[in-house]
Amino acid sequence: MHLILMGAQGSGKGTQAARLAPRLRLEHLSTGDLFREAIAAKSPLGQRVQPIYDRGDLIPDDLTVALVEERLDRIAADRAEGLAARGALFDGFPRTLAQAEALDALLARRGEAIAAIVEIDVPMDQLVSRLSGRRVCPNCGTTYHVEFNPPKQAGVCDVCGGTPAQRDDDKPGPITRRLENYRTQTAPLLAYYRERGLLTRVDGAQDIELVTQAILDAVGPRLADGATSGTSDGPVRDEA
Ligand code: ADP
Ligand code: ADP
Ligand code: ZN
Repeated sequence: MHLILMGAQGSGKGTQAARLAPRLRLEHLSTGDLFREAIAAKSPLGQRVQPIYDRGDLIPDDLTVALVEERLDRIAADRAEGLAARGALFDGFPRTLAQAEALDALLARRGEAIAAIVEIDVPMDQLVSRLSGRRVCPNCGTTYHVEFNPPKQAGVCDVCGGTPAQRDDDKPGPITRRLENYRTQTAPLLAYYRERGLLTRVDGAQDIELVTQAILDAVGPRLADGATSGTSDGPVRDEA
């Protein structure tokens, strides 16, 4: 059972996925994070995708789908060993119609299903200011915003003490290019999922905690079975 977060760059997918994954017992699967790890490790995949990534363009579908399938295999293997995750919480995947179709095909082959797709809706002008103020901890991946979501002590990660930094692609040129790619390549997917009755939209232009609650309200009925309570991240309603 999988959940997909959709929304433009800066809509808060990563921020929400980090909060939701433990509560819903799903594994956060961010293709952007996986590509950044490959680039940092200078693996063959990383070296191949780096120039595309740096421009702010999408990595070819076949490479992206292969990366996702490998990760799903690992989640399934962990599940077989009784480890926690019930499925994946997709953040940043799928982003093209071809990826969505490939995901449908590979889930059908595996006997797995998408429980829900949530679109986090944020106006364009706010996306740009969110992306230009975003800072990410290079050690632990925690995401901050210089103004909207700063660490307790400026320049120091709350979680690990690292120094949050600006991503290379959170500069004006790549930001514009990525948002344009979203409009042309990814936004059409919303109709694809709406037609299948899987899509719900939440207002992403409210406080982080309110967005989390709106998502839990939207997906609660479909993911209720394994919803957990008692995480350190704030109150969680009993969805049952
Ligand atoms: P995405 O993964 O969709 O690209 P992020 O989760 O990285 O988006 O969020 C983009 C930026 O906006 C980050 O700096 C984050 O701290 C900030 N942010 C996330 N959610 C909100 C919110 N509800 N209100 C204000 N800023 C937010
Ligand atoms: P953002 O949502 O802020 O663009 P991500 O971390 O999700 O950031 O993605 C960063 C980059 O990683 C993208 O610009 C693209 O180059 C690559 N990428 C991530 N997910 C995908 C995907 N599903 N398909 C193709 N490329 C991807
Ligand atoms: Zn950190």
